[in-house]
Amino acid sequence: MKPLQQLVRANIWYLKPYSSARDEYKGVDASVFLDANENPYNAPYNRYPDPLQRDLKEELAVIKQVLPSQIFLGNGSDEAIDLLFRIFCNPKEDNVVAIAPTYGMYKVCADINEVEYRSVLLDENFALNAEQLLNATDQHTKMIFLCTPNNPSGNDLDRDEIIKVINGFQGIVVIDEAYSDFSKQKPFRLDLMKYENIVVLNTFSKAWGCAGIRLGMAFAGSEIIDLFNKVKYPYNINLLTQHQAFDALKRRYDVDKWVGVLMYERNQLAASFKELPFCRKVYPTDANFFLVKVDDADVIYKYLVSCGIIVRNRSRVELCGNCLRITVGTTQENNQLLSALRSYKK
Ligand code: PMP
Repeated sequence: MKPLQQLVRANIWYLKPYSSARDEYKGVDASVFLDANENPYNAPYNRYPDPLQRDLKEELAVIKQVLPSQIFLGNGSDEAIDLLFRIFCNPKEDNVVAIAPTYGMYKVCADINEVEYRSVLLDENFALNAEQLLNATDQHTKMIFLCTPNNPSGNDLDRDEIIKVINGFQGIVVIDEAYSDFSKQKPFRLDLMKYENIVVLNTFSKAWGCAGIRLGMAFAGSEIIDLFNKVKYPYNINLLTQHQAFDALKRRYDVDKWVGVLMYERNQLAASFKELPFCRKVYPTDANFFLVKVDDADVIYKYLVSCGIIVRNRSRVELCGNCLRITVGTTQENNQLLSALRSYKK
C-alpha cells in the first residue's frame, strides 16, 4: 500500500475537524453540563449523543472480533461509502474501479463526488477475475470496490481472487460484506491486521433486522478510522439508534436463529422456482436473496405487482437480462409468492 498520506486528499489530510462540546470535555466525572447550549429539560433526548459512540463500539468490538479503534459507525453503510469518496478521491482527477454488476450506491457516490467510476464485468457466472480488475487501475485509482456476497447476483466472490486484488493494489480495497452473516466464507474484517489497505463494510440492515434504525459499520486500521471521524458529521448516530443498537446486540442470538430459518427458506424457495415453467435459471447464492432468470422479467414483475407482491426487477442491469432478484421472506410470504407464480398464465 502507498503511504496513507499519498492516498488521502490533501485537504482532508490537513483538515482541522470540528471540535464539539462533547469532544472537548472527556473523562472528568461531571454532573452539570452547561457547555452545549442544550435545553436542561426533556431528558434523556435533550442531550447530544456521544460523537464517537464509544460504549456501543466497546460492545460491538467484542462481537465482531475487532478493536473499538477499528470501527466507524455511520448512518447506514451508505454513509461510509460516501465518506470514502470524500476522504480519498479528488474530484475530476481520481478514479475508482468496481465489479459489475454490483450494489448501485458505489457509482451514485462516485457521480455525486465527480469521480470517474470504472466498472469491470464479472464473468457469466458472476465470478471475479483479479487480473482483469487490476488491469483497469492506473496511477489515479484510489479505491477498488468489491461486494461479497455480491448484490444483485448473491454469490460469494472467490476469497483467493479477492486476496490477489488486495495484494496487487497500492490503494484501498473496499470489501462490502453487507450479507456476510448469511455466507460461510471467512469475513475479511478478521484479517484487518494482515491487510492494511482494506476497509470492510457491514450493516445492521440485513441479518440483524434493523434496516429502520440506519446503522452501518466500516472496519479498518485505526488510522483510516480516524479519517472517517474527521470528516463525518459531529453527531452522526443519534441517541435513538444507539439505544436500539444496544438492544439488538443483547438479542444477538435471534440473528443466528433468523439466519438459520432464512437459509432453509431460501433453499426451499429456490428449489420451487426451478419447477416453474417460465424459470430459466436460478443462480447460486450465499445471501438472503437470489437472482432468477425468467422468460420475460418485465411481464412477471408487473404481474406480481398486480398481486401486491414486490420483487426487484434487475433486467436492465449488466449480465442480468430477464432477471428478478427475490428477497427471502417469512414462510407465509414465500408461499404467497409461489402460489401467485404458480397461477401465472401467459
Ligand atoms: N451494501 C450492499 C451490498 C447493500 O445491498 C446495501 C443495501 N441494499 C448496502 C450496502 C446499504 O446498507 P445500509 O442499509 O447499511 O445503508
